[in-house]
Amino acid sequence: MIKKSELHTDVLVLGSGPAGFAAAYTAAKNGAKVILVEQNGDVGGISTSGLMSHWTGSCASPLYYEVLKRSAEHNEGVFKDKITNLIDPEKLKTLYLEMLYEVGCKVMLYTFAEDAICDGDTILGATVLNKSGKTDIYAEITVDATGDGDLAARAGAEFVLGRESDNKMQPATLMFKVGGVDDTRAVFLGSFESTYETPNGELQALAKEHIPYPAGHILTYQSTLPGVVTCNMTNAIDIDGTDADDLTRATLICRRQMDAIVQYLRKFVPGYENCYVISSASLIGIRETRHFKGKYTLTEQDILEAKVFDDYVVKDAYFNFDVHNLTGAGLDITGVQKHFKQNKGYTIPYRCLIPEIKKNLLLCGRNISGTHMAHSNFRVMPICIGIGEAAGAAAYISISQNCSLHAVDAKQIREMTGI
Ligand SMILES: Cc1cc2nc3c(=O)[nH]c(=O)nc-3n(C[C@H](O)[C@H](O)[C@H](O)COP(=O)(O)OP(=O)(O)OC[C@H]3O[C@@H](n4cnc5c(N)ncnc54)[C@H](O)[C@@H]3O)c2cc1C
Repeated sequence: MIKKSELHTDVLVLGSGPAGFAAAYTAAKNGAKVILVEQNGDVGGISTSGLMSHWTGSCASPLYYEVLKRSAEHNEGVFKDKITNLIDPEKLKTLYLEMLYEVGCKVMLYTFAEDAICDGDTILGATVLNKSGKTDIYAEITVDATGDGDLAARAGAEFVLGRESDNKMQPATLMFKVGGVDDTRAVFLGSFESTYETPNGELQALAKEHIPYPAGHILTYQSTLPGVVTCNMTNAIDIDGTDADDLTRATLICRRQMDAIVQYLRKFVPGYENCYVISSASLIGIRETRHFKGKYTLTEQDILEAKVFDDYVVKDAYFNFDVHNLTGAGLDITGVQKHFKQNKGYTIPYRCLIPEIKKNLLLCGRNISGTHMAHSNFRVMPICIGIGEAAGAAAYISISQNCSLHAVDAKQIREMTGI
């Protein structure tokens, strides 16, 4: 029979990606008792277990810059003490854990949040499952940072899956790294809109021709390690990241593409003639799933106008509309990377973190209330850290001032996060 237990905490954060890490860290640093639950064996979500290449875009988040600064201290070789947006996932796994322990956060790895504990519309916490059995964790405030919003969905919060018109979601990618690359000649093509001519032809066109559909583009990123390059090149379409069978199917599709991608790199891309796979992500990269209905839904237009909301809790958020092709390789027709015209950063209002009808629950990270197009922008990791900081501060203020999440003043959140 399964063992059952109970825990009580101030703040319960589910999911430890950049957003969940930031929420847990911020709430704990300010003095809240925090439990962070993560299904994987490492903290960091896509930034670590997803074998991420680099932090993209930017955001006025003091915690994001602290992570960059502390990562620099852990880097080696030419990157030692150099602030860079390149990620060493192995070092970052340890750094996140160290930081969480420094502020006294209880971390529960290998633990899946399976259901919400509710009293009507009020979220009381979550039931989690791990080796030890099942635990009901009761919390004053629960933060859903699972990316997919698993807990919010189980609690009955309203959402739209993927694109509003047809519920299609951005493709999934299993990131992998190759070693044996000649750094002095290596080509790094970091966007779909980047091209590179070789004697055999242009590299994006050659990828389309030689890598089997639905893969067929080149995205390669330098790493902090000599001869090691991160490849964002596998591609699985028509995947619903909230469906367990689809997650397995996506993993198989992407793994099957890796050999052909390596053959392509060796044959056509300068510097990669002797490359070989050294590692692949332990977590399939899901870009998009549920968009929850919050008190406010951030739109494409808000970003294009760089709107400043009265209740903003994230500021100077900057990126482009990174919509990958929903039917194959490359960029979607609605996507804009290098040619994105808006240079001003935008803000995200606190209301995007508050689900319309649920109490004591905060949305956090890529699952906040935003349209498919807005999400393609705010989903990047620096902005997710900014959102997480805001969620952690809001949770702490709500508890310490004994007020509802709705009553928390955005100005106070900004003061606490220092933006
Ligand atoms: C392939 C790919 C490439 C990308 N490239 C970049 C890039 O180059 N730069 C960039 O800045 N951004 C990039 N992004 C975007 C970015 O990585 C994500 O949007 C961002 O990590 C989202 O942060 P998050 O914390 O909301 O969610 P995630 O990082 O997805 O973290 C969610 C966490 O919750 C955990 N979890 C999920 N469900 C449960 C559950 N029920 N119980 C317990 N734990 C659970 C997961 O294991 C995970 O650790 C990329 C995304 C993908 C998929």
